[in-house]
Amino acid sequence: MSALPPNPAQLPAAAEAARLNERYGEWDAAALLDLAIGRLFAGRIALVSSFGAESAVLLALAADIDPAVPVIFLDTGKLHPETLAYRDILTARLGLRDVRSVGPDAAALAQEDPEEWLWSDDPDRCCHLRKIVPLEAALRPFSAWITGRKRYQGGTRGALAAFDADTAGRIKLNPLVAWKPADIVAFLAARGLPRHPLQARNFLSIGCIPCTRAVRPGEDARAGRWPGRAKTECGIHLSLMSE
Ligand code: SF4
Repeated sequence: MSALPPNPAQLPAAAEAARLNERYGEWDAAALLDLAIGRLFAGRIALVSSFGAESAVLLALAADIDPAVPVIFLDTGKLHPETLAYRDILTARLGLRDVRSVGPDAAALAQEDPEEWLWSDDPDRCCHLRKIVPLEAALRPFSAWITGRKRYQGGTRGALAAFDADTAGRIKLNPLVAWKPADIVAFLAARGLPRHPLQARNFLSIGCIPCTRAVRPGEDARAGRWPGRAKTECGIHLSLMSE
């Protein structure tokens, strides 16, 4: 497969991400968030959260710095009710003041997915309509965004740095990049934060209902996503990434 030509909007951001990695790439998560939310991108940064199995860590660390930081939550219309309930529980618990639930365009869904089988027929297109398009719109006012990706999750995330750039020229901050599963568990316990209700049923990475199953003993955390398919990412970090 031939490489895509570089997106001109991405080039300065990629260089800036490299510079930021050089200077701050080894800082811990709290310090990175303080730097980004409080100084580098003050008023111009949003956190994107799935309110999934590990999301409470990043949300709590960001709320420590500024509970009014904008948090974008993609409500695809196919989420588990437990995820929607967890969003509300964590929002109240952490005092988050600007959680923005965004979703797909109803007219586009009516035209392209009237029978609601697109997740089975063409999951990439389904993720595009339900996640990528709404996220692109929600991120338009911002010059940077924060993700919860970690290297231990493997795949395209295995070589992730603390800073990278998306194809629209925004900086992406990945403050938990070096965290391991044991760090997550220890942090949640130390803070006494509630776990996602499905975690108790061994859903360790939680997406839409048709595309998520519980993980079996010995499987990695993301093995329950798009089971039986080659697909491993919804595309948010593939279409909007520079890796
Ligand atoms: S995860 Fe599944 S249901 Fe959700 S948007 Fe992607 S393909 Fe559609």
